[in-house]
Amino acid sequence: MDLSFTSYNLHLIHTFTISRSSKNIEPCIIVELTHGGITGYGEAAPSERYGETPETVMNFLKSVNLSIFDEPFQLEEILSYVNEFAPGNTSAKAAIDIALHDWIGKKLNLPLWKLWGLNKEKTPLTSFTIGIDTLEVIEKKVREAEPYPIFKVKVGIPNDEEIIKTIRKITNKAIRVDANEGWKSKEQARDKILWLEEQGVEFIEQPMPASQLDDTAWLREQVHIPIIADENVLDVHDIPTLYGAFDGINIKLMKSTGLREAMRMIHTAKAANMKVMLGCMIESSVAISAAAQLSPMVDYADLDGNILISNDPFSGVQVVHGKLELNSSAGLGITFRK
Ligand code: MG
Repeated sequence: MDLSFTSYNLHLIHTFTISRSSKNIEPCIIVELTHGGITGYGEAAPSERYGETPETVMNFLKSVNLSIFDEPFQLEEILSYVNEFAPGNTSAKAAIDIALHDWIGKKLNLPLWKLWGLNKEKTPLTSFTIGIDTLEVIEKKVREAEPYPIFKVKVGIPNDEEIIKTIRKITNKAIRVDANEGWKSKEQARDKILWLEEQGVEFIEQPMPASQLDDTAWLREQVHIPIIADENVLDVHDIPTLYGAFDGINIKLMKSTGLREAMRMIHTAKAANMKVMLGCMIESSVAISAAAQLSPMVDYADLDGNILISNDPFSGVQVVHGKLELNSSAGLGITFRK
């Protein structure tokens, strides 16, 4: 098994701002795993929030030695080796997991959703993310996002209310809100959420810092809409710690270490009666199409990372009137554009 990789700068259509950062370019690393004449693609979208940079990803990919394994079908053994190789490095691990799955699908000539027994008509609608911006730009983004029926709005700054009011002036579409740990006191978070409930917000993602789990449990008793964990949940081991504080989890391949762990998380969360959302970082169609393969199993999708960029090197899952449309091509169902 040969592993090679290239770093690539994804260009954002609009400057992307959340409560802790702002950017125009997001680097990703595209991985190619070749064995027996078949190439599987993977992608790492490193996040500094989880201690990764393009350099840490490339160092990790350079250091692992997959040639000790006979074939990509040995997923359990290969991914155990990769996971134990070093702690963290979750997006680098995800890139390998995604490439292995793409290879397997191509080898069997089946799309992953079919291999997993899923119905591609059951994909959810995906939300479209509106980052923090001036009110004029937010208004423009909302008008540009006319084809998308659900908005995910980034808040967690002092003028949250103005952002929501600006959107509500234009549309009555469903709004989901993500504070990205932006509210530091539980009383502030409670007041914000009670106000957001009056604006018809469907749920709130990660209102408080991940370190304030007890405050989030208090908060959950004070509000009426679901609270979804994002920064508080990386892999399956975090799910039991969320009990009582969150109503659901946001799974991202770049946090979970890939598709195999994401599948375990979906089953575990459902067993605990928690809602499941599939989310993403700013990613190309490689990682977005990978996550979309699992989407018939989840309650909510926020798989728009590839829609927010102008130079996606691949095409794959499409969004039609907000609904994720999986194709029937093998593996991830992706095509190289250039
Ligand atoms: Mg989030």
